[in-house]
Amino acid sequence: MTDTKYIFVTGGVVSSLGKGIVSASLGKLLQARGYKVTIQKFDPYINIDPGTLNPYEHGECYVTVDGHEADLDLGHYERFLNVQTTKDNNITTGRVYQSVINKERKGDYLGKTVQVIPHITDEIKRNVKLLGSKYKFDFVITEIGGTVGDIESLPYIESVRQLKWELGKNCLCVHLTYVPYIAAAKEYKTKPTQHSVKQLQELGIQPDILVLRTERELNQSITRKVALFCNVAEDAVIQSIDRPTIYEVPLILQRQKMDEIVLRKVGLEVGPTPEMKQWKEFLDKKTTATETVRIGLVGKYVELQDAYKSIDESLLQAAIYNNRKLDLHLVHSEKINDQNAASLLGGLDGILIAPGFGQRGVAGKFAALKYARENDIPTLGICLGMQCMVIEYARNVLGLTEANSTEIERTTPDPVIDLMEEQKNVTNMGASMRLGAYDCTLLKGSKTYKAYGKEQIQERHRHRFEFNNEYKDRFEAAGMKCVGVNPETNLVEVVELPDKKWFVGVQYHPEYNSTVVNPNPLFMSFMKAAIDNHKSEEQV
Ligand code: GLN
Repeated sequence: MTDTKYIFVTGGVVSSLGKGIVSASLGKLLQARGYKVTIQKFDPYINIDPGTLNPYEHGECYVTVDGHEADLDLGHYERFLNVQTTKDNNITTGRVYQSVINKERKGDYLGKTVQVIPHITDEIKRNVKLLGSKYKFDFVITEIGGTVGDIESLPYIESVRQLKWELGKNCLCVHLTYVPYIAAAKEYKTKPTQHSVKQLQELGIQPDILVLRTERELNQSITRKVALFCNVAEDAVIQSIDRPTIYEVPLILQRQKMDEIVLRKVGLEVGPTPEMKQWKEFLDKKTTATETVRIGLVGKYVELQDAYKSIDESLLQAAIYNNRKLDLHLVHSEKINDQNAASLLGGLDGILIAPGFGQRGVAGKFAALKYARENDIPTLGICLGMQCMVIEYARNVLGLTEANSTEIERTTPDPVIDLMEEQKNVTNMGASMRLGAYDCTLLKGSKTYKAYGKEQIQERHRHRFEFNNEYKDRFEAAGMKCVGVNPETNLVEVVELPDKKWFVGVQYHPEYNSTVVNPNPLFMSFMKAAIDNHKSEEQV
């Protein structure tokens, strides 16, 4: 294919309509036809990246292989497309302005007044086109964060308008809106969609395709009405009906031929409809599974739907591939103590101790880990979860009763988890953690080695603190083995208790690297152990 095609996805009426899922699903359909596809997200806030936002503000912070702290939608893109994203896939207003201001200081615009149009819009456009020119993608799908009409997203909408004009047939716009059901009137209402499209038209953009988010299937008179009022062809009014799983959305869009409409509009041959075999097999497995596996997720943000998004999805994928329904128990780490651990965690097949920052909730993680270790429940600790595993073991097995991480207690007499050397002079909080993919060498024979089936792995990181190697011999002598180490820096990446059924802590985040067609091996292994644990319980 010669020219890259650019698809923009905007949203109207309300937020949280699932632009990310629609973008990822459309990307999947085009990819299934053999095209090289990437998806990009523009976030209209001033932060340079979401790395400094807490989960209450912005859900999970996703990390790309090249170490960019990114919006969680990039996780959806990777899980759907099975293609890694980079820092070029997530741009914020802060980054756009930073780049323009740096250029201004250098003198790149010498003599000129620097303005939103053309300087900010040019920078936005440069970032869109970069994915086409640098990586040679056939399709670049760009999701514009926020809702049309927001002050903050205006420069992005204006950039889309300009690009549509410049790129002609190589560009198209998809607008996602909401069709509410008014129970008292027993009717679906299209007025918000009409208004939202009018707003987009006022800004100079005529959408080519409309996606209507709806609770139930809309009848043809409604889609026809929307088409008529919004200048959109009737077959280009697509419905995104609520489904129990986001992984059904590609098939819903395919049934309505959304990918064919896109191909026709950008002047490409349509060809045969892809079978989506692997995808359908995954969904079939999900529906046919009858037995459940009970996994407890212990964290301080469990009440937030999006805080552990990648972990939730990785667990779901691993459960499905192991022919089980995932029964996920969210356990708030602030609510666990030694007295209630048995009643909160007793019936679980496996326990996952979540990543995190700061002191709040760690006492509960220690209590959960003590209970899991003493009762031999398969357990996976991720990042702070792994660090808590080390601290709990130090306190209750090594007898270092005041052991801690210096993140939690700066003056602890036994800093078994300590600030990394490279972090000691860090003063800026933004993008300064140990981020992105690093090598790890696994010890042959360990559970982690068996999970991956190889000695050398690469996984992504996001942390400042680390296992303190001064204590390594004491841990190993007592039974906690350091089975994964970074070959260059000697940093401990994986600890295990070999005499337990499955008790593994990883300093890295395997959840960032688990996709629908390629579930993460460590999650798969953890899930198998949890399922085996379930069986043995039944046999008792
Ligand atoms: N707070 C810990 C650290 O900075 C763990 C980070 C995490 O769980 N992502 O090392």
